[in-house]
Amino acid sequence: MKIIDKINSRISEKRPFFSFEFFPPKTDGGVHNLYNRLERMAKLEPTFIDFTWGAGGSTSGLSLELSRVVQQYFGVDVMMHLTCTQMPLDKIQETLTQCQEFGIQNILALRGDPPQGGGEWKPCEGGIAYGSDLVKYMRSQFGDYFGIGVAGYPEGHEQSSDKDECIRFLKLKVDNGADFIVTQLFYDVEEFFNFKERCLSAGITVPILPGILPIQNYSSFKKFSDFLKIKVPDGITSELENIRTDDEAVQKYGIKLCAKMCQELLNRGVPGLHFYTLNLEKSVTAVLKNIGLIDESVSSRVLPWRPATVDGRRAEEEDVRPIFWSNRPKSYLARTMTWDNFPNGRWGLSSSPAFGRWRDHYLSRQAAGASARLEKLKKSLGEPKTFDDVSQVFINFCDGKIDQLPWCEFPVQAETSKIDNDLHRINSMGYLTINSQPQVNGADSTDPYVGWGGAGGYVYQKAYVEFFSSPEKLEVIFKKLDKFPSISFRAVNKEGKIYSNDKKRTESVNAVTWGVFPGKEIIQPTVVDSESFMIWKDEAFKLWLDEWASFYPVGSQANDLIQQIHDNFYLVNIVENDYISGDLFRLFDD
Ligand SMILES: Cc1cc2nc3c(=O)[nH]c(=O)nc-3n(C[C@H](O)[C@H](O)[C@H](O)COP(=O)(O)OP(=O)(O)OC[C@H]3O[C@@H](n4cnc5c(N)ncnc54)[C@H](O)[C@@H]3O)c2cc1C
Repeated sequence: MKIIDKINSRISEKRPFFSFEFFPPKTDGGVHNLYNRLERMAKLEPTFIDFTWGAGGSTSGLSLELSRVVQQYFGVDVMMHLTCTQMPLDKIQETLTQCQEFGIQNILALRGDPPQGGGEWKPCEGGIAYGSDLVKYMRSQFGDYFGIGVAGYPEGHEQSSDKDECIRFLKLKVDNGADFIVTQLFYDVEEFFNFKERCLSAGITVPILPGILPIQNYSSFKKFSDFLKIKVPDGITSELENIRTDDEAVQKYGIKLCAKMCQELLNRGVPGLHFYTLNLEKSVTAVLKNIGLIDESVSSRVLPWRPATVDGRRAEEEDVRPIFWSNRPKSYLARTMTWDNFPNGRWGLSSSPAFGRWRDHYLSRQAAGASARLEKLKKSLGEPKTFDDVSQVFINFCDGKIDQLPWCEFPVQAETSKIDNDLHRINSMGYLTINSQPQVNGADSTDPYVGWGGAGGYVYQKAYVEFFSSPEKLEVIFKKLDKFPSISFRAVNKEGKIYSNDKKRTESVNAVTWGVFPGKEIIQPTVVDSESFMIWKDEAFKLWLDEWASFYPVGSQANDLIQQIHDNFYLVNIVENDYISGDLFRLFDD
């Protein structure tokens, strides 16, 4: 979606918004950590996330890759920066065409800085000279496809001695088709408002987003403000000089100062704030909490899972998913990337979809950040010698001691705290859990743990647990099922041999999450269904081999052990249909 449309709708609703800038990390480990951070920061619901373009195109491949992955898999709209530095027009054309293919619809069009040590900026052969030329070129080649942002400089551009001249060139960028302006960072709020005034006088009426950099430590603050020749008010300089060697004090001061500045900007009519995060999370999050733009006591989830932001599968176009991929949502997105029709409202029309190969997942072994992720996963899994060692890994995950499993991309969800003792108990019994949700009977739709869908509604959930089990342990619970008529149980091994108790329910589609909202039909966004369970089981069993056994040499004790589990165990899903007074975990008593 175009960012300008989101900005305009927030302006008309008078709802302030915020966005985050990140840069491509230098190492594989840095990329992996950034993905984890983005996962958390996406939950704060920024209006967009943007990625810088390294000076001289030094990070161009990675900027494009990060932009693609976040646009396609993280449920946030992305703006990619693009500069003219060492970019002949054919390369610009190629990059923008790729953006179009990847569904990236927003570009911050820049001239760029010279490559490091490159001296004065000059256009390359076959290239263009200014940000305004890039905007013009984009509009001539791609029409209205892209939403275009451009850079503005409240204190003037360093290569221009004349602030009015800067405004004239900024006006040219807007006249050529730019939709909005993001400013260079500043610490003097008056500089920003003077700039805004000058823009208005020159006839620039597009939204202007102030660029905000919270002071996170003294040396990076000095580096940026000196390099960019940013005016630092005397009061700030003297306060910082007193605490410059105390990093914690500097960070605290930076948060307080930044929150004050942001509050003033909002009070004086700025529609939204753009944060230069420097790939860090703590200060920006603290500032947003201080000024009340994020409130963790109220759920802001639209659906129980994060809707995508690519055309054709936004929340209004796709509002049902099988529960099996809840801990591997990117794999689900990758596998269903080519669908042009999603089960919507009622699970039915696309109930036999052609799920693509799950190996297309963005964290395949070749992708940026993958080797660091696998290295970390390997460390979390250790080198099991006995089944108890394997079981301990699952217990550690439930207890929050490790933060991923091959089946779970991120740590246990907050809602799991309601059942963590039960999960710990059944994992200790040798049932290896990979997915679960607690029972909920009409919680407020803004509940911070289980709420979704906005204020005014009620949400419901059936208790669910999914695990791997040995045939012997499976037999134990299967025999008890007669005493639990409200439980639906389905187990399958890698060959597809099935055990189930409640054919009517296990062979149809069972909604396990639903919400009731005023003036709307009941929404049922999560289901357990037999067809996608059979597709998921292939992926789930394969993960034992690809993301566990493969860490050890063939023939080693650990490799043999994991291989045996893969060959013999069953994947089981259990739903407690009585969401009012049922107790799924009683099945495991005795
Ligand atoms: C929000 C933001 C994000 C940024 N992200 C990146 C990034 O990802 N990667 C990166 O390398 N750099 C980035 N930069 C830095 C930016 O590339 C530099 O500041 C660069 O020197 C100017 O880019 P511009 O698009 O603003 O240039 P322009 O608007 O083209 O201006 C460049 C200079 O040329 C002058 N000028 C403009 N048009 C004309 C004209 N028609 N005739 C004569 N002179 C003219 C201007 O006054 C100015 O001095 C970013 C800057 C900002 C504010």
